[in-house]
Amino acid sequence: MLETDLLLPWQDVKTLSDKQASPIYGVHAASYESIKSGNKTDTPVQTDPPIPEMLHNLSLSNNFTGEVGEILCTNEGALIGLGDGSDPFAWAIGANSLPQGLYYITNILNDNLAHLAALSWLLGTYKFDRYKLQKKPVSKLIAPSNVNIDSVKHEATAIGLTRNLVNTPTNDMLPHHLEEEASTLCKEQNAHMKTIEGDDLITQNFPLVHAVGRASTDAPRLIDIKWQPDDAPSPNRRKVTIVGKGVCFDNGGLNMKSGAGMALMKKDMGGAANSLGLAQMIMANNLDIDLRVILPVVENAIAGNAFRPSDVIPSRKGLTVEIGNTDAEGRLILADALTYATEDDNKPDLLISLATLTGAARVALGPELVPFYCDDPAISAKLAVASEETFDPVWQMPLWSRYAANLSSNIASVNNISGNSFAGSIIAALFLKKFIPAGTPWIHFDIYAWRPQSEPGRPKGGEAQAIRALFSMIKQHYTIA
Ligand SMILES: [Zn+2]
Repeated sequence: MLETDLLLPWQDVKTLSDKQASPIYGVHAASYESIKSGNKTDTPVQTDPPIPEMLHNLSLSNNFTGEVGEILCTNEGALIGLGDGSDPFAWAIGANSLPQGLYYITNILNDNLAHLAALSWLLGTYKFDRYKLQKKPVSKLIAPSNVNIDSVKHEATAIGLTRNLVNTPTNDMLPHHLEEEASTLCKEQNAHMKTIEGDDLITQNFPLVHAVGRASTDAPRLIDIKWQPDDAPSPNRRKVTIVGKGVCFDNGGLNMKSGAGMALMKKDMGGAANSLGLAQMIMANNLDIDLRVILPVVENAIAGNAFRPSDVIPSRKGLTVEIGNTDAEGRLILADALTYATEDDNKPDLLISLATLTGAARVALGPELVPFYCDDPAISAKLAVASEETFDPVWQMPLWSRYAANLSSNIASVNNISGNSFAGSIIAALFLKKFIPAGTPWIHFDIYAWRPQSEPGRPKGGEAQAIRALFSMIKQHYTIA
């Protein structure tokens, strides 16, 4: 799990004795290159205090190169490699690798890099240890003086929540468990939640959510969360609505996946997990917006009552959907949820969808870079800036409308899959677009929600994606100043 208590508020480290806290010096690889090529006057990096000579000499005799992931620890402090300086999470290695104790960073960092260094320390201590009998000890960090530690802790808590939800195996993360997690968050943050479950999804007109989830022994449901600052309405506030795909396990339905194909499918609720993480960040920071979170939550399972390929199912919007493949289920449950999100007086000023939607998105951009779709250039531009500032990578893809013709059906309004294998992530986004009124400010993310290998601050497993960038954009552009 993730302990935010490992980050302590800044204090003047000169008042501490050596035994109380140890210095960390972050060093760049380029400086070591320079020193080794004979430039004796170069120093690895500017720090306050400077790197002790003994530590510097020791690093040279130990072939320390300053690459990310390198660490050297002595009684006089520790060196951490920052590589070329492009990875602000490089500091995270200290939390797990240094002898248990209290540390502080000696490098002079601007506000943003100091924030990311402190955040990376907390994120680096994350370990999914719910089922482990022994917990690994980790170290504490005194935050740099220019860090708002409450803000770092809220962010780390939200990412820890997202990772935990994704990492928890489905036997402990079925639809009713995910509802309990959402309910706990709502109680903590004074938000209001209602759930429409089982056959009520039929009577209240969510036929696609019901069809996808009805074969599971754990009933399908739609979770609807509303929150506003201090629980008090304000007519001027902007409405931000987040819709997250919550497929707790996806075996593909009757178009069943292979064993390898379903190995990671506990993470198919990663959109819902990231939605709750983003909601946690917004609520804990008391952002001045009206927040709504809508989560269609199901297990795509097989039983006698499972929906079939070739079935035609009505949608909340009224369009009929021919099922070309039961494994393209995420877009079905999102379709009803997105229609619901944009009805009547609920029209949002910003509609966000987060979903582990297609394998095609990973073929295009790999596991780390998140494709997003948006027809509004102003929103896309704001997101791009926020993404760069927060080191939370996203990449815009086109909602190429001519491809929508691939979703045509001979017997229904639309098919849930395309007749060919081209542009799968774009096609999925175009399917969703059919269920959203024209002109809605909508931004859709086809996330992976998983990190295939560990890096500093980013352990292998469930991962938060795009939500730090989204939080920054919402804070800057959607709150009442
Ligand atoms: Zn699927």
